[in-house]
Amino acid sequence: MDMAFLLIGGYRALGRRPSSETRRKVIERDEGRCQSCGKLGSDLDHVDGSSDDPSNLQLLCGPCHRVKTSEAMKPADDESRALILVLSLSRVMPDEPVLLADDEEAWADQWRKLTNERKARFEESLLAVGFIIPSKHLSRLQLIAAREAYLAT
Ligand SMILES: [Zn+2]
Repeated sequence: MDMAFLLIGGYRALGRRPSSETRRKVIERDEGRCQSCGKLGSDLDHVDGSSDDPSNLQLLCGPCHRVKTSEAMKPADDESRALILVLSLSRVMPDEPVLLADDEEAWADQWRKLTNERKARFEESLLAVGFIIPSKHLSRLQLIAAREAYLAT
């Protein structure tokens, strides 16, 4: 089960990146070469942990970086697997829907009901500014256009 690998750390948050200044320093220090195979480097790799200090960074080429990243992934232990199972079951097969949209049977009706309620609120807001709705069959877009034209006069 692929998900068993997801919670096991070892993969940094993608959003965090060393500064461009740090990047420049490391590339310069490593002379632009992959510190594993010596080819042209492209990726900044965290040697151990997630510190962005240059002493914890090295330049790698893409292939060597991918190898290192995949080797760092470990299968989940029993406790983590149990947690993943509970989390996924509670979301995928809950006793009661967690979200309105999770209830397959009810959602089609709910969706229509919510859309109609939204349309009713919009029509009320039109009436509030004195706009007379010309037809019940106008789409929301047509109503917005009609309101804009009305307010412009
Ligand atoms: Zn390499």
